[in-house]
Amino acid sequence: MKCPKCGALRDRVIDSRPLQEGAIIRRRRVCLQCGARFTTYEEIERLALRVQKRDGSFELFDRQKMILGIEKACEKRPISLKTIEDLVDRVMAELVQAHGHEIPSSAIGERIVEKLRTLDEVAYVRFASVYRKFRDASDFVHAVKKLNRSSPQSETLPLL
Ligand SMILES: [Zn+2]
Repeated sequence: MKCPKCGALRDRVIDSRPLQEGAIIRRRRVCLQCGARFTTYEEIERLALRVQKRDGSFELFDRQKMILGIEKACEKRPISLKTIEDLVDRVMAELVQAHGHEIPSSAIGERIVEKLRTLDEVAYVRFASVYRKFRDASDFVHAVKKLNRSSPQSETLPLL
């Protein structure tokens, strides 16, 4: 790895540490020429993942786009970006295990909905209303009724 201080290409790893349950490895390195210490992160190439859309065509998996979509559903809810990122990583790990590297978009939506349901009811209904295309209107009304019953002080949903 090129030293950020002197540009030399010779270094030694002095510490390796797994992050996010091993999804990322952080390495502390020392430059053998100038002694500078720096850190690198190693993770599996995510761009290799392809998403199959409803019309059968493929697009590259965009982690940032997914995070933004969930962030929108979680607006003004007590959910940190870190929680959302962890959720996305967990969802993608499960999907790769189930589908390999070509993942149907419907499976992604369903899996996120499932996770949000246990995380935050408001975020769950918001996300589901956009991505799941409720099978019929009564499903949706039922979900909202359930939501209102269990959290009477919840804010008004903008989608109603
Ligand atoms: Zn150096």
